[in-house]
Amino acid sequence: MKNIFLISILVLSGLTGAKAQDTLPGTAANLKTWCYFLASDDMKGRKNGSPEMKTAADYIAAVFQEAGLKPYSAETGYFQEYTTPRNNTELAERNVIGILEGSDSLLKYEWIILSAHFDHIGIRQPVNGDSIYNGADDNASGTATVMALAKTLGAMHVKPKRSILFAAFSGEEMGMRGSRWFVAHPSVPLDKVKLDLNFEMEGESATLGKNKYLLTGDIFTDFDDLLDSYNKNSTWQCADVYKTPPGVFQASDNAAFAVKHEAEKTTLNIPAFTLVTTDDMQVIHKVTDEAQNMDYENMAALVAYTAGLVNFLAADPLAIHWDQEAFDKFYLKQ
Ligand SMILES: [Zn+2]
Repeated sequence: MKNIFLISILVLSGLTGAKAQDTLPGTAANLKTWCYFLASDDMKGRKNGSPEMKTAADYIAAVFQEAGLKPYSAETGYFQEYTTPRNNTELAERNVIGILEGSDSLLKYEWIILSAHFDHIGIRQPVNGDSIYNGADDNASGTATVMALAKTLGAMHVKPKRSILFAAFSGEEMGMRGSRWFVAHPSVPLDKVKLDLNFEMEGESATLGKNKYLLTGDIFTDFDDLLDSYNKNSTWQCADVYKTPPGVFQASDNAAFAVKHEAEKTTLNIPAFTLVTTDDMQVIHKVTDEAQNMDYENMAALVAYTAGLVNFLAADPLAIHWDQEAFDKFYLKQ
């Protein structure tokens, strides 16, 4: 019944005129295809510096192109290339970045970043005969979510008012090297970045239940007020913004947008959050984190919800209050 209703909305809106809150046809199937590809044994656990990471980057870039995103640069296309030290050598990696220009003549100069890391930890000690750490939930799921958001928002008849930068970061498992490189070499002015919404572990729905997520970092802002006003009309709910301890805030790429460099303790004051659909951290970095364990229907519903939320936020004043005192107390002075 629900599907028939959605399909009729899409038909009435002429498919190309999809609204942000609609599920684009085939989203769950796309998410499944992308996660099975990124987390396949052939990708050997997407270790930084490996040829498989280049294959993964090409794959993500192709979807960004299909979604109609503009490339990061005229010279390097969707890739932001960088090197980072590893074992006395320089390891070459790349972030994958695409842009959806805002539809408002003024707000298009401001940015919302939707990010996820696509690297994982490669091949390690075998457990029960399996040595490939596929990294399906961590973080093929977040990467696929960002890819699906690119397709969904890219298909909207009227694009979001602010510009959206879609970023698939490498180097996260080495200590957020990709996102820290982006922040140190930004392609957009950082003082115009209003928000980073980062995606990690979106494939598991058993722990919190369907249509629920946790948000890290809200303890430093009043973003929950804005979320509450949007979620009043949504089937999706933020299960708890405070349940996640502040320490988890620094466990993903969102942290790079809040603090310029861990050692420097320089605050950038960009409200940056990681959205997760689980609080079961037992699956992280296990050989059993595989594509067949994920709930693609729930992920597709999350994409539809998040697309609507981002479209809403892209038109909002987004005067998110940053509580420096709370940040100092829980993060900088840990
Ligand atoms: Zn991760």
